[in-house]
Amino acid sequence: MNHADIQTLIARSPLLRQLQNLQETSWFNPQTTTLAEALPYVGLSQADVEDAHARLARFAPWLKEAFPETAAAGGIIESDLVAIPAMQRRLAAQFSQPISGRLWLKKDSHLPISGSIKARGGIYEVLTHAEKLALQAGLLTIDDDYSRLLSTECRQFFSQYSIAVGSTGNLGLSIGIASARIGFKVTVHMSADAREWKKARLRSHGVTVVEYAEDYGVAVEQGRRAAEADPNCFFIDDENSRTLFLGYAVAGQRLKAQFIQQGISVDEAHPLFVYLPCGVGGGPGGVAFGLKLAFGDHVHCFFAEPTHSPCMLLGVYTGLHDEISVQELGIDNITAADGLAVGRASGFVGRAMQRLLDGLYTLDDQTMYNLLGMLAQEEDICLEPSALAGMAGPQRVCASQEYHQLQGLTPQQLENATHVVWATGGGMVPEAEMTQYLSKGQL
Ligand SMILES: *Cc1c(COP(=O)(O)O)cnc(C)c1O
Repeated sequence: MNHADIQTLIARSPLLRQLQNLQETSWFNPQTTTLAEALPYVGLSQADVEDAHARLARFAPWLKEAFPETAAAGGIIESDLVAIPAMQRRLAAQFSQPISGRLWLKKDSHLPISGSIKARGGIYEVLTHAEKLALQAGLLTIDDDYSRLLSTECRQFFSQYSIAVGSTGNLGLSIGIASARIGFKVTVHMSADAREWKKARLRSHGVTVVEYAEDYGVAVEQGRRAAEADPNCFFIDDENSRTLFLGYAVAGQRLKAQFIQQGISVDEAHPLFVYLPCGVGGGPGGVAFGLKLAFGDHVHCFFAEPTHSPCMLLGVYTGLHDEISVQELGIDNITAADGLAVGRASGFVGRAMQRLLDGLYTLDDQTMYNLLGMLAQEEDICLEPSALAGMAGPQRVCASQEYHQLQGLTPQQLENATHVVWATGGGMVPEAEMTQYLSKGQL
C-alpha cells in the first residue's frame, strides 16, 4: 500500500492507532457467522480432516519406530490436557478479574519430536509428501505397514528428493527432524529471531540451516526461490499450505475425545473458549477450524499476538489480509515471542477464518514473561514466551460486556464455561535458556 492509503486507513480507525502505539488491544469480531455459513469460504471440509486422520493412522507404525518417544501413544502425536486451578486463582488475584468456569492448558508445548504445535502441521506435511512419492514409485500401497519406509531401500529412494522451508524456528525444527528421519535432504531457511539452540539441534540431525539477518518473510521468500531452481525440491509453504492447515485441524476431534474422558460437556449451556497464539496463522487457523468442526458454534476461538507483530489482527480487521504488513504501520515486528514474529499474515488463513473467530488481541512481551513466571510458580509448567500469549485471553473475555452482548452470552453460560489456553511451545527449551526466560518475569 502507498503512504497516502495507509494514512487514510489510520485516520478512519482508532484501533489502528492503538496498534501503532503498541498498546495491548482486544478486538471482538462483529462479523462472526455460523459454521454452516462460513464453511464455503474455508474451502476445506470435514472429509478433508478425516483424510488427515486416516493418513496419520497409516503412519503410526512408522512413527512408533522412527521416534520411539511416540510408541507409548501408539505412534500418535498428541498432547495432554491439564486443569490449571492454581494458575486460574493467581490470574484472578493478579489482574483483579475473576475467570468464571474452569481453566485448562493444552500442552502442545510437550508434543513429542519437536516440543511445539509444529509437531502437528509440519510433520504431517512431510509425511504427506513422502507418502505421495512412495505410492507413485510403487514402493508402497496404502494397505501396507508403513514401518517398511524405514528400510534402506526406501531411505535411499527418498534421498533423491529434498525439502525446503522458511521458519522462525519451530516449524524448521519439526520439518527438519521429520524430513531427515524419512531420508530427505532438507534445508531450513531461518529468520533472524530463530534461537541458536534450534539451529544447533537441526544441524545435529544433518539438516542444512541457512541463516538470514532479516525477518520471517525474507526467510520464506529465499526458501521458495531456492526450491524453484530444483525440480526434486519440495517447498513447504507456511503462508499458503492447505496440507499444514489440515495437519493442525486434526486436533479438534482429539480434544473432543479428551473432553469426553474428563467428563467435560460442551454444548449450548456449556460454551468452550479457546485461546491460540498466532504467527502467520496456519497453526491457530487449522486448530480453530478443527475445533469448529468438532464442537460447532459452541466453541469460541481467539487468536493472540505480540503488540510488536499484530499481523493477523491487522489483516482481518482491515479486511486487507496479506495485502498489508505491520511494518507499513511503522511497527517493527521485533518480539521475544519468536514463534509469533511475523509481519504479514497468511492471506489464505485470514480469509478462511475471518467469520469463525470471535476475536483477536495483542499483549506486551513483558506480559508474556510475567505469565511465564506465574505459570512456573503456580503449576510448575515451563513454556517459551510465545506459548503464553493465550494466557491473557480468559481475563479479556470475562471482563468484556461488549463481547458478551455481541455473542449473546448469559452470566449462567459464562459460569459454566471451559477455557482452554493452547500452550504452543517450550518443552525442549534448554535449561540455561529457560532460566533466562524465568528471570524476566516481574510478578
Ligand atoms: C509457530 C508457532 C505459533 C503460531 O503458529 P503459526 O502457524 O505461525 O500462526 C505459536 N506458538 C509457537 C510456539 C510457535 O512456534
